Formats: sequence, C-alpha cells, structure tokens
Amino acid sequence: MDNYDKAAIPSLADCLKAADETREMLVDRGCYAQIPALLTRLYRGTGVYLISDENTREAAGGGLKKILDGAGIPVRGEFCFPANPRLHAEYAHITAIREKLSALSGLDETVPVAIGGGTVNDLVKRAASELGRTYLCVPTAASVDGYTAYGAAILYDGYKQTMSCPAPLALAAEPEVLARAPAYLSSSGFGDLASKIIAGCDWILCDIAGPAGAPAAEPVDTTVWNMTQPGLLDYLERSVNAARGDSDAVAALFEALAITGFSMQAFKGSRPVSGSEHLFSHVWEMDDLSLDGVPVTHGHKVSIGTLAAAAYYEIFFADPAGPPSPPSGDRPSPSQRMLAVSSAFEGSRGRDLVVKTALEKYVDDAAVKRIREAVTDNYKELRDRVLARLMPYEKLKEMLGRALCPLQPESIGLSRSQAIATARRAQMMRNKYCILDLSWDLGLMETILSRMEDSEQYLR
Ligand SMILES: [Zn+2]
Repeated sequence: MDNYDKAAIPSLADCLKAADETREMLVDRGCYAQIPALLTRLYRGTGVYLISDENTREAAGGGLKKILDGAGIPVRGEFCFPANPRLHAEYAHITAIREKLSALSGLDETVPVAIGGGTVNDLVKRAASELGRTYLCVPTAASVDGYTAYGAAILYDGYKQTMSCPAPLALAAEPEVLARAPAYLSSSGFGDLASKIIAGCDWILCDIAGPAGAPAAEPVDTTVWNMTQPGLLDYLERSVNAARGDSDAVAALFEALAITGFSMQAFKGSRPVSGSEHLFSHVWEMDDLSLDGVPVTHGHKVSIGTLAAAAYYEIFFADPAGPPSPPSGDRPSPSQRMLAVSSAFEGSRGRDLVVKTALEKYVDDAAVKRIREAVTDNYKELRDRVLARLMPYEKLKEMLGRALCPLQPESIGLSRSQAIATARRAQMMRNKYCILDLSWDLGLMETILSRMEDSEQYLR
C-alpha cells in the first residue's frame, strides 16, 4: 500500500458513474443488440457512419451493420481502412474521416461509430471532436487503454502527441469479439496495462521531487490515483492469460484498461497511466519501428519501455544511502542543449517540436539545486515508496513473459544498445516530469545508462 492508496478501489461502474464525458458502457454478451436503442437514447443523430479496418469490419462491423439495418437505423456510409499495411494514427487519416463526415451534407448529426482497436478509436475520437460531434466506440480488442480516455495519441508532423478530444459518449464491447482478437493484440493490451506500474512510480517521484522542488511539485490526485494504482497488480494477475485466449482473462484485461482510461478522462491528461516507459515507445513510434516489415504495436513497444524504465529505476535506487554521484563538470547550457536535441533528432520530421519541448523543460541551476535537495532530504521515503510500487525487474519480466509480451529489444526490432540509448531521446520528448528528467537534471543519466549497458541482467 502506498500513502495514496485507499481501501476502496473504484469499480468500472463507479468510474462510469463519475465520468463526465462517457454516459454509458455496454460490456455484456450480445450487447450489440442494444446499440440501436443506445443511439436513439443518447445521440442527436438519426443515422450512423461506420469507421473500421478490414479486420475489425469482419470481426464486428458486419454483424453490427445487420443489427442497425434490422432496427431501421440508417447507415449513411462506411470508411474501411486496409488491413495492410497496419494502420498508423497519422493526422492525415483524421482529415480524411472528417472530410467524409462533412460531405454528408444535410446530415450534420450523423453519428461516427469507431469499430476497431486503439488506432481507429483515436482517429475517430479526434475527427468527431473537430466536428463538434459525439461518437460511439465499439472496441474489438483489449489492446490499449485509450477507449475510455480523454485525448488521442496522434502522429502529427512526425511527432507523437496527445491531442485533446473527449472520450466517446458511449461504448459497446462484445466480450466474444474481444476474446477472438488475435493474441498479439491482447498481449499488447497487457503491456499497456503493466506500464501503469512505472506511471505510478513517476507520479510518486514527481510529487516528492518534481521540478518546482519539494514538496508536491505535481501533487497526486488521489481520486484518479485510486482508479489505476491500488487494483493494478490484481488486475495484471487476473489478465495474464489474455493472449492465450482465456476469455475471463480478456474480460479482466478489458475492464482494467477501461478503468485506467476513465482515470485519464477524469484527469484530462495521461499522467495517471503513462510515464517514462511510454516515452521510450513514443520515440520508437516516431522511428516507425517495425519487425520484418510489420509495425510493432503500441503495447509491445510499451512492454520493452516498461522493462527499460524498471531497470532504470532499479539502478537509480540501487544504493540505500543515496543515488549515484554525478560526475564533475558543468551542466549543458540551453544553447548546448538545443544543439544536442537537434542532433539527436536529425532527419526526424518532429525535430523542431522536440527541440521546443526540451527547451521548455530545461530547468535553471536554482531549480536543479531544489530538486537535488528534495531528493537528498526525502531519499529514504522516495526510495521506499518507489520500490514498493515498482515490481522487481525479474518478476516483471517473468509476468510479461507469461502474458506473451516481448521481453528482449530484439523482439521488437531493436538491438539492446539501441533500446538503452533510446532513454536519451525519450527524455527530450514530453514536458511531463519523470525519472528520466530527474536523472538528467541531476547529471546522472549517463552513469545510469552505462550501468544498464554493463549489466548482465537488464534487457537480456
Ligand atoms: Zn499506452
């Protein structure tokens, strides 16, 4: 138990009741049959526009269309992305969906329906928001936490960012469709769920020793915290067999991901569910990471990011007496920093935005002094609480292995050294304080990375 943990963990129903954007969520067997009534009850529109990809249309779209036709709900059109190459959350797709919806002249209230995984949902979520409409989400795999979340993770100008947009007004998830999803999607969802371990550690760290100095630089919102953290290990254990086709495990995984999504909806940001481990995956998303020509899923990148971040934490807190000592020498100046970031993202379309972000979060010497004091003064509490939240690396690896997640960087198309070196670029990416920022501000990043490289244990 952490200081923030409360005895009562909110259920999915509690989270739904507290949600300010999502009004209804159907997760029962045969629930598609209730969609026509749901549309009539909640939405202003009289017709729908279905957005899917070839796989998800086959898995759910066809059956749903029959139900809509049978109920007399007009299907005004369909937008189906090809199954291959695998769909990316590129902003250009949002423009395309928006244009299709706008072209339904005189039918402004047509309801967009996202039938698919995280990418289809994120694209429709943002497109609907840009048109000022609400949409219906029909998830087809327990693969991400974004279905119930506020915001969409979109690649814009080559830079992966969370774009603001409300969560769906309603969701309808058929457990049988989720259970039939390919194993790699369920293991991806498991990786995305396991990442919340690191997100929790980063929030504790930030609360105690964030850039404004102690105390409470970015205080933990305990209501939101309790949606994600206290029940996490139990959910991970219950959902570990999801990728093996165990339908109870898939249902538990979907429920856990939906709850963590609701925590983002409540917080209006990704802090409760995404930390340094997601920054690794954001870099690999910018790099279009693929294995044998197939893009690596979000959750599989996050699995390796979670292992890398766990290793990073263990090295940072290895010594009960204090963090590693910083090497002597001056910190890079802002202009040196700008050059370093610019060169690290040479050739990347998102380079200018990363440079801007890295400079925005560059803290002055006085702030570094405050951060150092906060870490030194609170080291024992910080270490105890982070290590209590962090699953030991070997146990984490064993659990991810049982869930069929990738365990070595090579499984996602990276060498071990490339994966470790990613920490440098990951730290440059987002202005959301985490262990990578803290260690960089204290001049410890290179020491930690060289210890990780030399280790016989981490990322092997
Ligand atoms: Zn994620």
